[in-house]
Amino acid sequence: MPELPDVELYKRYLDRHALRQAIADVAVNDARIFQDLPADAFVGRLKGNRFEDSRRHGKHLLVRLEHGGWLTLHFGMTGNLVHFRDGEEDPPYDRVRFDFEGGGHLAYVNRRMLGRVGLTGDADAFIREEGLGPDALDPAFGLEAFRRAISGRRRDLKSVLMDQALIAGIGNIYADEILFQARLHPRTPVTALSERQRAVLFEQIKAVLETAIERGAGAEQFLERLPEHYLLPHRDKGGKCPRCGTAIATLKAGGRTSYFCPRCQVEPD
Ligand SMILES: [Zn+2]
Repeated sequence: MPELPDVELYKRYLDRHALRQAIADVAVNDARIFQDLPADAFVGRLKGNRFEDSRRHGKHLLVRLEHGGWLTLHFGMTGNLVHFRDGEEDPPYDRVRFDFEGGGHLAYVNRRMLGRVGLTGDADAFIREEGLGPDALDPAFGLEAFRRAISGRRRDLKSVLMDQALIAGIGNIYADEILFQARLHPRTPVTALSERQRAVLFEQIKAVLETAIERGAGAEQFLERLPEHYLLPHRDKGGKCPRCGTAIATLKAGGRTSYFCPRCQVEPD
């Protein structure tokens, strides 16, 4: 599932391939991805327009349009962006395709239909309406803001890290890595954290997400690109902790599987 690092890489991909090119046409192959928005209204807004600029908030990508307003992209479980040249075949599960005047196409691809493509007048209002917390990599999101976001939560760290209303961008995979690097068990209650542990956890949120982006390791198939001392490249069956060699353990909570080292990440009493 695309998390913050994936969507940041999609943002850079879109910036590189699709900014400031006139959109000659838009093909809607599956209008269900718009939910309530009529397909012809979407096409009418995008045709003859340009992608001026983009920003990311958590797992959402927002693209500013030359003639006002924003295109909103959410990738669900399996979404992606694919740029391809004239004469090349459309990628499979291409739900919406933008055709550029100067040639080339950008496809919003999504095998399962859990993502969403839409329009909004105002990016900040959209973020508020979606109920998203601060973006995990926003420089304005500092240790004090982190303390405020999680304070008073009687829940475990894993579910708090993944709660988009508290901090936007972290999903199942990167929550596991952040907790491994901070040496905290996924079931640790927020209230059990010492000040020092909270500071380490905060540092690791930034460090892990930034490292994943730098290595181009957003999606699950690219986790091997992460540093060797990371947990994620070892999370397959029979994987061993890169720090102590202990077999990696799993636990299930809320329908998601957490991977952790039972020796480095000790469950609190
Ligand atoms: Zn270990």
